[in-house]
Amino acid sequence: PRVVFSGIQPTGVPHLGNYVGALRQWVNLQREEQPSTKLIYSIVDLHAITVPQKPETLRQRKREVLAALLAIGLDPERCTIFYQSSVPAHSELMWILACTASVGYLSRMTQWKSKLSLASSSTLENKSVGSRLKLGLFSYPVLQAADILVHRATHVPVGHDQQQHLEFARECVTNFNHAYGNHLVHPETIVSPAQRIMSLTEPTSKMSKSHEAQRSRILITDSPQDIRSKIATALTDSTPGISYDPATRPGISNLLEIFSVFDTESRSPAQLAQAYADASPKIFKEAVADALLTGLQGIRDRYLDLSANDSYLDKIEQHGARKAQESAKETMDIVRTAVGL
Ligand code: ATP
Ligand code: MG
Repeated sequence: PRVVFSGIQPTGVPHLGNYVGALRQWVNLQREEQPSTKLIYSIVDLHAITVPQKPETLRQRKREVLAALLAIGLDPERCTIFYQSSVPAHSELMWILACTASVGYLSRMTQWKSKLSLASSSTLENKSVGSRLKLGLFSYPVLQAADILVHRATHVPVGHDQQQHLEFARECVTNFNHAYGNHLVHPETIVSPAQRIMSLTEPTSKMSKSHEAQRSRILITDSPQDIRSKIATALTDSTPGISYDPATRPGISNLLEIFSVFDTESRSPAQLAQAYADASPKIFKEAVADALLTGLQGIRDRYLDLSANDSYLDKIEQHGARKAQESAKETMDIVRTAVGL
């Protein structure tokens, strides 16, 4: 049986990059997959605390992400939508996997190495690199592997940035199965076909929830005025006309990518560049905003309704937790027996 698993961190309301790179596929899988395929989507709060979080803010953001997932059209009956920390089996399996995972492999992870070099180059604090970097951040990929393996996922849709972590999850399966027998399932990665959406204010880095600049990202719940104004002030360049060349014109090219995703005529970024070749930046950006507003229509209103409905969100949360606990229990029964616990 096919099992799809994917996750999103409750580090803020999802932005356009999350939507295009991940969440839109989550929704589409509801009709593309056979009804027998399990679709499991987790709001991964344990991952979020690998960097400092204010407890009140974290609690609030979990609700915001839950409401956003429902607002984009995930059906809580068709899918299992749950908070990671509601299913302790994720952490339990993480520990068991950690006992057969190699430190060497983990320390070669690109995301870890970039955090390491960032910490080594930072002179802000007097502490040694070793005490500033936290074990949770280092072992993050083991928890991510447990998230996937505890539900016996066969397919994991993720953005390009997560491919290496998925490779590590398969390594965890190999190590565990070698030690205890053939019990865990090797998951396949489904890499999003969509381009990465870049920041509006710094178009050479990806749009991200945790970047300080609010104007660097469009939230899928932004008001039409906010969307228009963020697109209008997005960083571009002084070359006249519109052309598609991500290397030399990252700002314009990012807007063309966004336009293409939401274009009702499904034109490619290059085709759109041709159609708007002689347009002024102002006219072009208005057209991008129009396409975007049409594409995101309805999400904001549904989100505002859902956010005001606490008892409904509570019910959805509990329903999802129950389903996810059942799914995880099947694997944990096998794993505990195999290990001798
Ligand atoms: P954070 O900055 O807190 O890590 P994030 O914006 O990277 O937040 P995540 O929750 O880490 O969001 O990722 C959720 C999903 O969205 C992942 O599958 C990830 O690959 C995808 N994703 C994140 N940013 C982008 C982007 N700019 N373009 C396309 N996909 C993205
Ligand atoms: Mg991220």
